[in-house]
Parts: sequence; C-alpha cells; structure tokens
Amino acid sequence: MAEEQVQFSFTMKFEKTHSFAVELDAHDRLKDFRKWFLFPKHNGTEAVYFLGNSLGLQPVSTRLALAKVLEQWAELGVESFFKGKDPWLDFHDQLVVKLSPVVGANPAELSIMNQLTTNIHLMLASFYKPSGSRKKILIESKAFPSDQYAVDSFLKTIGVDPKEVLIELHEKKQNEHIDDADIIDMITQQGDEIALVFLGGVNYYTGQVFDMQKITNAAHEAGALVGFDLAHAVGNIKLELHNWGIDFACWCSYKYLNAGPGAVGAVFINEKFHSDKSINRLAGWWGNNADNRFLMKREFEPSQDATGWQLSTPSILLFACLKTSLSIFEHAGWNNILIKHELMKEYLQYLLEDLINGDDTGSLQCLTPASRGCQVSLYFTQHGKIIFEYLTQKGFMVDWREPDVIRLAPVPLYNSFSEIWNFYEALKLILQEIKK
Ligand SMILES: *Cc1c(COP(=O)(O)O)cnc(C)c1O
Repeated sequence: MAEEQVQFSFTMKFEKTHSFAVELDAHDRLKDFRKWFLFPKHNGTEAVYFLGNSLGLQPVSTRLALAKVLEQWAELGVESFFKGKDPWLDFHDQLVVKLSPVVGANPAELSIMNQLTTNIHLMLASFYKPSGSRKKILIESKAFPSDQYAVDSFLKTIGVDPKEVLIELHEKKQNEHIDDADIIDMITQQGDEIALVFLGGVNYYTGQVFDMQKITNAAHEAGALVGFDLAHAVGNIKLELHNWGIDFACWCSYKYLNAGPGAVGAVFINEKFHSDKSINRLAGWWGNNADNRFLMKREFEPSQDATGWQLSTPSILLFACLKTSLSIFEHAGWNNILIKHELMKEYLQYLLEDLINGDDTGSLQCLTPASRGCQVSLYFTQHGKIIFEYLTQKGFMVDWREPDVIRLAPVPLYNSFSEIWNFYEALKLILQEIKK
C-alpha cells in the first residue's frame, strides 16, 4: 500500500459519539487488514481483542505458510534448504529485509534466532564488559521478571554477586513511571562505574516508552554500553536502532509481530561490533561464515555481521510464521501503521480522560504516561477485579495484572475505533454501576 508521510501532530477534533467512531473506521485506510487475522470468539461473535501486547492474533496466512514448509520437507527432505520453490537457506535474508524498516536497522545488523530470554543471555555474554571500577549494570527495578532472572543468573555464572553490581531504577512513587530525566541523572552520576545500561524500551507493566535516543547518548557519554529489551516495542512504536546508536537489542516476535506462541526471537547488533575481536561471544556452528560453514573446520570463523551470533540450525517452521506476519506489515506499510497507531492512541487517551475526569471517586487512574505506544495500563484503587470480570463477560479481552491493573493494547492492524468506543462505553457503565 502506498505510504503516507508520518505526521504525528493531529488537529482532529474528536467527538464523544458512536457515530464519530464509525466515521473514523470508515476513513481508516487499514480497515481491511482486520480480515487478515483470526479472532477468538465470544458468544459466537468476534471478541474485542486488546491483547496484541501479549500474544498477537494469528494471521490467516500462517497455516498455509506452515503447510508449504511441511510440503517441501516431504518432497525434498534436507535438499529443501537449497532447492524447491522457496529454499530455506534464503529465509533469513528475506526476514531481515522485511524486519529492518520496522526496527530502523540495517539488515546486516539483525539476526533472527532463538527466543528472547536466551538472547538476553547471549547479549550479556558479549556486551557486559566490566573493567576496573566500571562494572555496574543499570536495570529497571520493575523489569520483566525474565530479564531480571537472566541478569542475576548470568552474573552468578561468571562469578559476580548481583548485589554488588546491579543498580536498579525505581519509580519515585508507587504506581508512577520512571522519568527519563531520572535515568539520565543516574547514568551521569554513576557513569564512571557503569559498564552496561540494559533497559526495556517500553515497560511491559506501565506501557511507558523510554527515550532510547537520550539514554543511549547519556550512556555513551559516560563510557558505558547500552542495550534494550524491545519485547513491547517492536511492531508497536517507531524505532531507529541504528541511528540512535544503540549497541544491541533483543526482542520476541509473538507480541506486536503476530508470529505465534513461542515465535523465533531476534537481536540487533550495531555494525560497529561485527568485526570487533574484543567482543566475546557464545558461539555455534551456524554463526560461522556461511561460505565455509559446511567445511566443518576446527576454528570458528564468525560471519562479519549479526548472523555471526547465531548458534543453531534455523527453525524453519518458526521462520515461516514470522515471514508471513512480516509480509502483512509490508503490505500495510509501516508508516501507515504508525499513522493509525497515533490516531488510535490519541482517541483512546481522549476517551479515557473523560472517564478519569468524570470519576469523582478517583478510583480510576492511568499508569501510562503520554510517552507510550499501543498499551495503556489502568489502575483501579477499588473493585478492579470486578471491573475486569465485567469487561471479560462483555467480550473484551484485556489483561489483568495483580493487584489492580488492567492492561489493554488496541493495535492498528486488526483493531478498530469502534472497538475503542465500545470499550469506553462498557467501562463507563460499570464505573457508574459501582458508584451506586
Ligand atoms: C514478553 C517478555 C519476555 C518474555 O521472554 P521469552 O523468553 O520470550 O519468554 C521477556 N522480557 C520482556 C521485557 C517481555 O516483555
């Protein structure tokens, strides 16, 4: 689809009517992409699926893509890597070309491999380079648990006590987000001691988008390396990994990228490290230069790009799922997706503000700051669970986080403005009921 220029300032005046939402849908250039996905049912009709931040919906085309791999395997056996309609050895190149505009990286800086937590370990092995008094790692205190477990256990594996080297960033008050300025201050203050800054690009709990460019600059000025976990960022917000100068990043592909449960993950490794011999890595045969990989030499000779970090034979079935879902991003146009994303975000914000301002009990708060992607996290001071159950009964698939948070993420590819409106009406109704 032809791409519009991204324009992030909207002059649109929203209205609080159902017909206005219908109007927005009518003008939505991406409205037909909804048909490219399979929706869970609620009482026989399509549920309102606001869980693209958790597990993106299945593209209709995924089944066929998988069937094709199985067919080729049946027909050609191992020769499928090199022969057939779609030789498997070409998959990786096709994937990185499709993915590069979505993350703002050169294709050579991307490697599609493993899953996210494994990749965090691999990246730590390469990019945690303590030396002298510079040995600290800056992380979020509310990082996704797997990231924390990975960092802790990695440090223990190399004989370092996590308590000695971890600096954890806290929000100022409970249920607030972390200010970018506080992160920058922390980096500036402790800069001499920080070896690595490793944060989520978008916090999974609050939905906050960090200013990755500023954080990267501050880390580099302090002499530290910087990496991001982009599980909640890729396919959600505009990224410029290369231009921002980020050293490395890793993510999963089953959230906003719709590549299926346990989909293959990916890493970004800045090109400046591709031939850097001072960088350690945990190696495997698939990271060897493709030209002589099959000579099975004793000496490891890494590929001079991000694929030099690969370990194993690629998961072709998983590659096929990612390929088919990235093709949808290509068809829709990443800029078009971002434009709809901005509009949805503003619209949801507009309706939520109405609820928050109209709620004199103060029981509804939005945890997510203005700097956010598709997700908002709503915090209920009371009756949160009842509200969640009511919404579920009405066919809204949103996510409950103990103790009192509902997360929802309308996404441009398969959600509509009417769905956002219907959510607003349902939430308004239950808030009024509870007040009585
Ligand atoms: C979803 C998510 C994970 C999950 O890791 P897997 O290894 O894919 O199970 C890890 N970290 C963050 C920040 C996430 O959002």
